[in-house]
Amino acid sequence: MLPPPLEPHFKEIREAYDRISKSADFIAELRHIRKHFQGRPTPVSYLKNLSEQCGGAQIYAKREDLNHTGAHKLNHCMGEGLLAKFMGKKKLMAETGAGQHGVALATAAAYFGLECEIHMGEIDIAKEAPNVTRMKLLGAEVVPVGFGGRSLKEAVDSCFGSYMEQADRALFAIGSVVGPHPFPMMVRDFQHVVGVEARDQFLEMTGGLPDIVAACVGGGSNAMGLFSGFIDDDDVELYGVEPMGTSSKLGEHAATITFGEDGDIHGFRTMVLKDENGEPAPVHTVASGLDYPGVGPEHAHLHRTGKANYTACDDKEALNAFFTVSRTEGIIPALESAHAVAFAMREAPKHPGKSILINMSGRGDKDIDYVTENFGFGEDL
Ligand SMILES: *Cc1c(COP(=O)(O)O)cnc(C)c1O
Repeated sequence: MLPPPLEPHFKEIREAYDRISKSADFIAELRHIRKHFQGRPTPVSYLKNLSEQCGGAQIYAKREDLNHTGAHKLNHCMGEGLLAKFMGKKKLMAETGAGQHGVALATAAAYFGLECEIHMGEIDIAKEAPNVTRMKLLGAEVVPVGFGGRSLKEAVDSCFGSYMEQADRALFAIGSVVGPHPFPMMVRDFQHVVGVEARDQFLEMTGGLPDIVAACVGGGSNAMGLFSGFIDDDDVELYGVEPMGTSSKLGEHAATITFGEDGDIHGFRTMVLKDENGEPAPVHTVASGLDYPGVGPEHAHLHRTGKANYTACDDKEALNAFFTVSRTEGIIPALESAHAVAFAMREAPKHPGKSILINMSGRGDKDIDYVTENFGFGEDL
């Protein structure tokens, strides 16, 4: 499934991760970084006003929007950067779509004194100018990708090609719980801190565990991080919230588990949204960070075994949640995270006396221009 020339390089990463991630030095340094650079632990907030407005369950949020750089992605990028340093690598490399992963990885590279090479489609570069500026300010080289659709898929191909020529001195750093082994496991392990903190904090705040734990699912890293803290708690129901986009028609959503089937994508086996030729289908959602026709393989597994439930919220519900939680709580959420908020708003009235903990995976500063230019201040929703 993986292009054969890449196999030895992923084997090297696998063996290095197995060895290094268990060492006391690695664990101690990552712990230091979490606290003194990222600003962890991030809090859990009780969303009192939103809970009262919805009626029913009490809604809580794990505040990854308060993690340095404003989203959960830095949790795994700092882990990947530290691994690169322990492996003696000089460079971090990745593709990026909207630029969120690129910015988090460029931040990690700056911290560790590593070079950084980010591949990005020309269409995305034009659309996401502030993130391109951020990456450059952080010292990264942004490589424009000008072939094919000039977007995320081509950026992946371009980055794989460049990586093969310099794999001895570079680490390819995938941006979610996707890709070939060990990335789904490794990225989940680096996000595990979110679930561990949240469980302790929730217990301390309420004396018990949440009844429902929910997170948005693009590739699935913020959801795996939160879920992994509660995976052994049989009374806690886990919900992944996928983007239903504008409709349930293929091409108009990115709800991979809800509508997809078993398949391969980017060198790994999982569930995939396929077109009539069996190729990954075009996808749409208002939240570009959820725009992927595959999903982390562990989510496919949790779905199959029934350990986690998967549902979807559409663009309109996410936008409504974006405006509502901004006004009622003073938290402007990322459009991705707004899908988890929308789920809580929909479910709360059905569960009086219970509690729902969502992952506020990121802040919405990146989305305010797009949202207000297209939807004003929510008057017409
Ligand atoms: C990238 C991103 C996501 C989606 O990625 P997952 O791997 O599914 O977590 C969600 N929220 C925010 C804020 C993001 O930047």
